[in-house]
Amino acid sequence: MAANERVIMLVDGQSFYASVEKAAHPDLENRPVAVGDPSRRSGIILAACPLAKARGVTTASRVGEALGKCPELTVIRPRMQTYVNVSMLISSIFETFTDLVEPYSIDEQFLDVTGMGNPLDIARSIQTRVKLSTGVWSRVGIAPTKILAKMATDNFAKKRTDGVFTLGPHNIEELWQLPVHQMFMVNSRMTFHFNRMGFTQIGDIARLDQMEFRRKMRREMGKQSDIQADYYWQTARGIDPSPVQAKIRNKLKSVSHGKTLRASLYRNLADIQVVLLELVVEVCRRARRHGNMGRVVSVGAVETDGTRAWSFNRQTTLQHPTSLTHEMAEPVMRLFAKYWSGSPVSHLYVSLNSLSDDNLIQLSLFDDRVKALRMEKTIDRIKDRYGSAAIMRASSLLEAGVARERAGQIGGHYK
Ligand SMILES: [Mg+2]
Repeated sequence: MAANERVIMLVDGQSFYASVEKAAHPDLENRPVAVGDPSRRSGIILAACPLAKARGVTTASRVGEALGKCPELTVIRPRMQTYVNVSMLISSIFETFTDLVEPYSIDEQFLDVTGMGNPLDIARSIQTRVKLSTGVWSRVGIAPTKILAKMATDNFAKKRTDGVFTLGPHNIEELWQLPVHQMFMVNSRMTFHFNRMGFTQIGDIARLDQMEFRRKMRREMGKQSDIQADYYWQTARGIDPSPVQAKIRNKLKSVSHGKTLRASLYRNLADIQVVLLELVVEVCRRARRHGNMGRVVSVGAVETDGTRAWSFNRQTTLQHPTSLTHEMAEPVMRLFAKYWSGSPVSHLYVSLNSLSDDNLIQLSLFDDRVKALRMEKTIDRIKDRYGSAAIMRASSLLEAGVARERAGQIGGHYK
């Protein structure tokens, strides 16, 4: 690699939950194992070991269906806290190689190992140490940018027996030969559009001039599609200036955000809700940036009749801690509607309190929340890259737009 290039890794734990369970149950070593609720046949399989996968058990299928395909399957109840602990143990192994370790999900972490030695040696050393201490087999994508490292892992390293793949300018043609749906963030709807535009391989996008690709996207997707076009064009070329960011470790007590308003303009609920949602978006984004979730949500307002002013502040405790916009917006909207007297509003304020680490997501046997968190963190990165002004278009790019969140339609339909 060129001297000025970064060396970034995306390390993925294979069949993470199932691997942790197999390490904890040596008697099951040569048997098909899945993680899910064994008492509910309609429950979801959260993870399956390679042996189970070879017998047709797939992640996100029903427990009953999985047992139908593989009657000798052992289904083990998930132990989320254990998986979180193992994930943090793996982070600490990575931190012996570099300070720049960024968790992307419970079983995927980015590392920046620029200048830390031969990348292949580091990758193999990581694989050995993680396997010995946790039983989890690591797949390592190595590249000069995060987006390329992610695609190196998903499209190549996972398919190789040695579990390591380096992707860079020297072999980017290998990425470009893949069908467009294998590009990061391309869902079935985008695949349809790309195919209709005549793009079947990732290279069909990467080889175009950026302005030419923008023009074609505008014709297909409308005038608002420039950010989307730039995002996909850069992704196809592996361009991603975003740094690997170590989690901010200073502990927050709460995250809050408020806004002073011209009361004469804020007299009806729909207008106020727009501001409340903006505040929630900002609070959740800051909580995620710190790797936090909060269990107590509060909303406050100053109301005025032109001569007098008065205020209220109400809070509610959620069943699960959250940093997801739609999950925080719902109680905020409900509390506000309940306690607002209907007078013009001159100040609004929302906060998220009782914070905990966001690795501690309580799964209700659906990993939609994990996916939603990952998706919102991706939106955060797009905002970091293109500025907050891009939020509306950036999120419509992700089909997780603010309008959808407001309508409570999130969940279940992410890839
Ligand atoms: Mg994995």
